[in-house]
Amino acid sequence: MRIALLPLVVKEVEKDVLKAVKEHVEEFYSRFGFKVETLPPKTASDVFFSYNPLRGQFLGRFFLMKVAEHRKGFSAVLGVTDGDLYEEGMNFIFGLANPHLKAAIISLARLRPEFYNEKDGEVLKERAIKEAMHELGHVFGLTHCENPRCVMHFSNSIIDTDYKGKNYCERCLNKLKRNLEGMI
Ligand SMILES: [Zn+2]
Ligand SMILES: [Zn+2]
Repeated sequence: MRIALLPLVVKEVEKDVLKAVKEHVEEFYSRFGFKVETLPPKTASDVFFSYNPLRGQFLGRFFLMKVAEHRKGFSAVLGVTDGDLYEEGMNFIFGLANPHLKAAIISLARLRPEFYNEKDGEVLKERAIKEAMHELGHVFGLTHCENPRCVMHFSNSIIDTDYKGKNYCERCLNKLKRNLEGMI
């Protein structure tokens, strides 16, 4: 059983960020028998039509659908893009998941410290790991959690992302176990 990591590149998806995400996801999901494989980077040019010039953002659902095309042979696929994503009714999204397609996408655009005039470069990896674990949780049937320290807590802003941990709380973990036992 494998989880694929797909870089979907607008300008740049940093290798060290992908590596950090891969390592954490693999370290966690290996207990369920998953391996994580990073696929060769794909340009996001196929989905540039989803760009909204007034907003300077891409409509996230098209990125998600592009990622889902690469699901073949994998239990789940997680896209990582540097494109700034939004959905209708939302100013922006950190990520998007579809449990039926077993696909998810995270955007690095608003996880970058530069976006908030911060200096600590390492924080990008931590944030990307949290958003990756969050969206994969959705892929495997988890919903949002009220515990602000749980990785399944909804992030309204980067403050929420920084506050929450990189892992699932006990309740979410138990639910995840049940869901994955049903899947495997
Ligand atoms: Zn969510
Ligand atoms: Zn939780």
